[in-house]
Amino acid sequence: MDEIDRLQLLAQLAEEHCELNHGPQTRPEDYPASDYLVIPIGYKKNDIEEVSVRDLVIPVCIECAQALLEDEWTLLYCIDCGNSRWVCREMARNHYRHHILWLKGCPDCSYEFGGLYFNETPKVAGHPEFIANYQHLLSCMC
Ligand SMILES: [Zn+2]
Ligand SMILES: [Zn+2]
Repeated sequence: MDEIDRLQLLAQLAEEHCELNHGPQTRPEDYPASDYLVIPIGYKKNDIEEVSVRDLVIPVCIECAQALLEDEWTLLYCIDCGNSRWVCREMARNHYRHHILWLKGCPDCSYEFGGLYFNETPKVAGHPEFIANYQHLLSCMC
């Protein structure tokens, strides 16, 4: 993502709402976005070269941004339909150690499950990448 894209997104931030799951009987309008989660979607050409096709940009509220930086929760996010679900790591059967797991297809949009992915970019030390408030914090942790 270049600087112009970034600034454009930041200019719209005040009008955005959190797109992550806050449970049933909640309305996105009640959760104003405080940041964007930016995920480069691409593929590995070989061991060295990674090709980023596009950026997935998800507006998130302050609560969700905080949860994504802490170790209590793992977010499961379907990149096909945008549905998400939080898993409490302590209660989960599996041992989750990532902050976000990306699903390629989920029961809500298709039954063709295309796989599970995670980002482990050294730049952000396995943490999700934010572009507004948390950017500084993340670069300090590296
Ligand atoms: Zn939220
Ligand atoms: Zn889905």
